[in-house]
Amino acid sequence: MKKILLLTTGGTIACEPTADGLVPALDGATLIKMVPGLSGLCDITSQEILNLDSSNIEPVHWQLLARALEKNYFDFDGFVITHGTDTLAYTAAALSWMLQHLQKPVVLTGAQQPITMPNSDAQANLQHAFAAACANVPGVMVVFGNKIIGGSQAQKMYTESRDAFVSVNAESWADITQTGICWRPRLMQQVARVQAAPQFGFKVLSALEPRVALIKLIPGLDPGIIDYYLAQGYKGLVLEGFGAGGVPNGHRNWLPKLEKAVQAGVRIVCATQCVYEGVNLHKYPIGTWAARAGAKSAGLLTTEAAVTKLMWELANTK
Ligand code: ASP
Repeated sequence: MKKILLLTTGGTIACEPTADGLVPALDGATLIKMVPGLSGLCDITSQEILNLDSSNIEPVHWQLLARALEKNYFDFDGFVITHGTDTLAYTAAALSWMLQHLQKPVVLTGAQQPITMPNSDAQANLQHAFAAACANVPGVMVVFGNKIIGGSQAQKMYTESRDAFVSVNAESWADITQTGICWRPRLMQQVARVQAAPQFGFKVLSALEPRVALIKLIPGLDPGIIDYYLAQGYKGLVLEGFGAGGVPNGHRNWLPKLEKAVQAGVRIVCATQCVYEGVNLHKYPIGTWAARAGAKSAGLLTTEAAVTKLMWELANTK
């Protein structure tokens, strides 16, 4: 039997009702007991890392998870992390950057309804997450609803529906059907290539620069907001702009503030408020000039992936 480590962090999946709403309460052993199908599938050890609503999860908690994975890496065949859905995409993306040359599955899952509620999606998500963790497909992935999504490509799109996550700008890794997990043939070819190539050692680069902010542009937003972040010592800014990306250069001209920030050593990344098809800074002058001022494009990255990548790059590259 495969040995799988369950790391729990809280979230709705582990919640109990209280007068103030749902509060994470259940531990890993209780979650496992509530999914009878797991006992014949794998040998599970559980470890509580946190017990939080994921809105309270911060970069320091991503580092706790990365270190727990590093410590236990050689003792297990795969890993499942239960997590609140609200910021699960950030944690999955952050782990995707921090866990280098990962040769084992690290599977994040959660639920829209507590496991103790009738007709909860928790049992199915856990069953599928453990099946994915046993499947020898390396990498950070999100198992939720009826699909498996690459860790840096997931985005939460629905607050209530079971199929809460989509895979952005990339095919999902697998569909989950009545007959089980159907991995995409193209992904399996990639996996085979990775497994055949010389193996680089698994390495955790868990340093992160937390002084990164996301600025969502709205029409007419005052670029003076950048001065606030400079004064507070921020090292990176993701500007979530409109359409193909770029910054306003008209009456509200963002370029002088952008140049000032870049000269002060702040890294600027342009992302987009559109979910699909990414940033193209060379399509319009608003993008061309931002690039000339020193802004980089987030390309096809989601905002979650762009923010976490910037935090990780600032701490790990010169
Ligand atoms: N508020 C919850 C959380 O993110 C939502 C969920 O888990 O679905 O922790």
